[in-house]
Amino acid sequence: MNLGNWQLDTVSGGRMRLDGGTMFGMVPKPMWEKLQPADERNRIRAATNCVLARDGDHTVLIDTGYGGKFSDRQRAHASLEAGEPMVESLAVIGVSPEDIDTVVLSHLHFDHAGGGTRSDDGENLRPTFPKARYVVHGVEWEDATGGAAELHGAYPLENLLPIEEAGQLDLIEADVEILPGLRSRVTGGHTRGHQALIFESGGQTAVYPADLCPMIAHVRQMWYTAFDTHPLQTRRYKPQLLGEAVEGNWWILWDHDPDVAASRLARDEKHEFVAVETMATL
Ligand SMILES: [Zn+2]
Repeated sequence: MNLGNWQLDTVSGGRMRLDGGTMFGMVPKPMWEKLQPADERNRIRAATNCVLARDGDHTVLIDTGYGGKFSDRQRAHASLEAGEPMVESLAVIGVSPEDIDTVVLSHLHFDHAGGGTRSDDGENLRPTFPKARYVVHGVEWEDATGGAAELHGAYPLENLLPIEEAGQLDLIEADVEILPGLRSRVTGGHTRGHQALIFESGGQTAVYPADLCPMIAHVRQMWYTAFDTHPLQTRRYKPQLLGEAVEGNWWILWDHDPDVAASRLARDEKHEFVAVETMATL
């Protein structure tokens, strides 16, 4: 997709299968399974549609997928792909890890930040993108690395500390211009420091809401994941952001939708919002 000066491409950080119940929170299964059918283990298909953004000056990666640091048991649990999905997806379009100058992480859960670090030949972990600054909201970093008991398990430190140790961590405040034509918008909801990313160029806008609204199936106010740490904020802010996208005719870039990478939305009396124009890949 061309959006003004930006060329946006979908790069997969790996497909997976996630428990349908946790992905739809309090929504009863008979409702969600009409939109996202579950397999025999109650799992639904999920993509990690990360975004490669190039404008001639910068090569930016929004989220990194889950990476390759897993045991066989962990892989089987969520049907994770072998190898390093993001590195392989980039290679297909001729981009090497060294080409990336900016990595922006919406939040630090494993399926967004995991691909940002890798093992070298020995035992050491290092950033996958050696020349990139890794942009993270300061509040998210604080929650992820602060050791709070209630967040135990949500943020494997092997995905995070090597970035800081390599001096590549760039903590930002809320709602900043990261690069010309790319800004962050802190949404909260899914996590306290969760941020959406907004591309703007040539009078066009695209928003990557990340896990504030991971699939088209999540556009309704009450349809959000059981992982959300601040559900009331999701209920409050998601309709606001999607409404803004409708009024501005923005593209929405869906991070986990298994079939659709982007769509525009219209308001709908019954379903709150419906997708009116869709792209399987950018
Ligand atoms: Zn996610």
